[in-house]
Amino acid sequence: MTGKETEYIKEAVASGKISGDGLFTRKCHEFFEQRYGFKKVLLTTSCTDALEMAAILINIEPGDEVIMPSYTFVSTANAFVLRGAKIIFADSNELNPNIDADKIEELITPKTKAIVPVHYAGIACDMDKIMSLASKYNLFVVEDAAQAIDSYYTGADGIKRPLGSIGHLAAFSFHETKNIISGEGGMLAINDERFIERAEIIREKGTNRSSFFRGEVDKYGWVDIGSSFLPSDIIAAFLWAQLENLDKIQSKRKEIWLNYYHNLINAQNGERIKLPNIPCYATNNAHMFYLVCQNIKQRTALIETLKANNIHPVFHYLSLHDSPLYKNKHDGRSLPYSDYYANCLVRLPLYFELSKNEVDHIINLIKDEFISL
Ligand SMILES: *Cc1c(COP(=O)(O)O)cnc(C)c1O
Repeated sequence: MTGKETEYIKEAVASGKISGDGLFTRKCHEFFEQRYGFKKVLLTTSCTDALEMAAILINIEPGDEVIMPSYTFVSTANAFVLRGAKIIFADSNELNPNIDADKIEELITPKTKAIVPVHYAGIACDMDKIMSLASKYNLFVVEDAAQAIDSYYTGADGIKRPLGSIGHLAAFSFHETKNIISGEGGMLAINDERFIERAEIIREKGTNRSSFFRGEVDKYGWVDIGSSFLPSDIIAAFLWAQLENLDKIQSKRKEIWLNYYHNLINAQNGERIKLPNIPCYATNNAHMFYLVCQNIKQRTALIETLKANNIHPVFHYLSLHDSPLYKNKHDGRSLPYSDYYANCLVRLPLYFELSKNEVDHIINLIKDEFISL
């Protein structure tokens, strides 16, 4: 929390307009379009909803195939499964949990419709490779940028682009576990202008209500499929308080991240526990600080040590290709790096209110654990 959240919520309530697309929603939209150059953004009730909108926008139909990493949150896959797609899971990189861009082309078939890269921990995927595959095979790219606010990718052309501005569409999350929060909340970023008009309609229950309010049509009606994807202006009011402090939040998070990194990089006993790997084309938005242990036993020991000291580190995704819902639909390919991160990755506490003393305390406990390895 940064201080003004409840003040802005009171303002939204006092304005008398608390449904979607009020004053605070407009402020948030302008902020994102100006700061990051997205052609058009639309706040949604979650990143999950923004992904579902993306699946509708690119006309996913039963039988279509969508390529994405197995090491990701269920929403990345669910959005496309709900439209009838078959998910083709790809493995992660050896060096970080992002999709291995060199293993995508062999998965492309005539049924492939989209690639969904997930910028894990806010660290960019290899977007040049992914975008060139997309244009070679005429595929859509939907960036799952849930964790990637205020992070960038520099391609071979030397241009530094915000994550979420590279694919045709991108989905962001403002869930309370992310950098910028509104409790629940999300956003669809539209970079391919062909999708703008239809996105507004899908978000408003399949009606052309948005153009009605702009005076472009004299009545509104049911023109497409859709759902209620827009958040109340009360949510946007909370989010606006966060956005006003985005740089402050980001610099505090980066300070914590770098404190972990610099103290732990030298404390390692050899290379037995790995620290985050950030490719030269990517920036770090300090969404997450994680360690990668050698095996699940070592990770469990580390978690137990920290828990005994009232610190609660957590592991992360279980591979989706091996989930109860999907393992019978998966084609049997093993995805060793996805399983490696599922078994070995552990996340350390990282939030705005975390003090330097607390971080130092965690670092010291981990150093002791490293020495005992
Ligand atoms: C958090 C997250 C989501 C879901 O975001 P919600 O806003 O909670 O729907 C989707 N994908 C990834 C990679 C996430 O980290």
